Amino acid sequence: MDNKISKGLYEEAKKYIPGGVNSPVRAFKSVGLDPIFIERAKGSRIYDVDGNSYIDYVCSWGPLILGHANDDVIGGIEEVVRRGTSYGVPSPVEVDMAKLIVEAFPSVDMVRMVNSGTEATMSALRLARAYTSRKKIIKFEGCYHGHSDSLLVKAGSGAMTFGVPTSPGVPEDIVKNTIVCTYNDMDSVKKAFEDNKGDVAAVIFEPVAGNMGVVIPEAGFIKGLREITREEGALLISDEVITGFRLSYGGAQEVFGFEADITCFGKIIGAGLPVGAYGGRRDIMENLSPIGPVYQAGTLSGNPLAMHMGCKNLNMLKNNPGIYEGIEKMAIQIEEGLNAIIDELRIDACVNRIKGMLCLFFAKGPVKTYDDVMRCDTEKYSVFFREMLNAGILMPPAQFEGWFLSSAHSDEDIEYTLVECKKALKKAFGK
Ligand code: PMP
Repeated sequence: MDNKISKGLYEEAKKYIPGGVNSPVRAFKSVGLDPIFIERAKGSRIYDVDGNSYIDYVCSWGPLILGHANDDVIGGIEEVVRRGTSYGVPSPVEVDMAKLIVEAFPSVDMVRMVNSGTEATMSALRLARAYTSRKKIIKFEGCYHGHSDSLLVKAGSGAMTFGVPTSPGVPEDIVKNTIVCTYNDMDSVKKAFEDNKGDVAAVIFEPVAGNMGVVIPEAGFIKGLREITREEGALLISDEVITGFRLSYGGAQEVFGFEADITCFGKIIGAGLPVGAYGGRRDIMENLSPIGPVYQAGTLSGNPLAMHMGCKNLNMLKNNPGIYEGIEKMAIQIEEGLNAIIDELRIDACVNRIKGMLCLFFAKGPVKTYDDVMRCDTEKYSVFFREMLNAGILMPPAQFEGWFLSSAHSDEDIEYTLVECKKALKKAFGK
């Protein structure tokens, strides 16, 4: 694989951008490579500046559920640009977007647009703290909610720890209000509530954990969270930045049958333009400025380009429910294909899948918790990634990420991917 031009760009980029990238995982560090620079993408394919083509399982980390540059989604964007790129006062498409989200999520009466998932969760926490007049929040180890201070908290290995800052620069004073519990372990949540009686404003969680690979909620976990938050007067914040409009049109709340107090969105609702949103019950949302005292604002929030693209994405999904079936079918095909390879090669690996979300763990299953995830062999994953890249397949450049499928992936893509997976797994496991 020739990657001279990417290498040159990377050297240049490193002079001006920390690490040469604008988001850390893009540096391919954890898989021991230099990054590829992308020139263009279409459908399930992404093309680098050296002319190499890849089947893309990153798909911009989730927004592109219809694939890259889907004609229906990007159609008309030039006309929108000509009418102006940002107004600083309301425009009709913001109402369209809000209605689409509210209609899809029965728990959401009102919604506020922001510009990223990070902003959505950060603002949701502020609102929850103001609404309950409480300070503490509970999150789960291995769940990622963006990089705001309160949420950038690493888990200790115990069932529950007080927050340890993940990153230098996050003050202890802030993270002391973040309690970290164990995903899929209601006992850790009960203990956190007991130890912090009357102080917990909210539990924030990913209803399917998509940032430690894919970890599926065990039966009763979400119900347990819903019950305990109600009993304790805390809010339940469902971070559906990944699962919203991906797991199904109504997100994880439709699939698992629960109603969150506040829901966070991102990714698919912007179709690849910068976007986020948070919404919830009217009596909670009405605390936001300008009708309530909780301040939150944004120069580019509800941006007409992002709203236009996002509405197109959502309308396509709403009007074509078969898209979800198609993506799930592909995910099952990959799951079954990988399981057959795992059995044949007798290797310590396993697949977690729910609906169209899946990933391959380089550890013996089952993988249900953060500790299980941490057993993965990341060295072997790196070999796998490099082999796949050489075969023209872009996998997530880290073990602890989900594989993103789109309706643009074809049967041939999946078949080819499975053939190459077998070769790459053989190499990774020395078989
Ligand atoms: N929540 C979840 C569940 C996410 O997966 C992410 C990003 N991957 C975020 C929040 C943060 O979103 P953003 O990167 O748009 O700030």
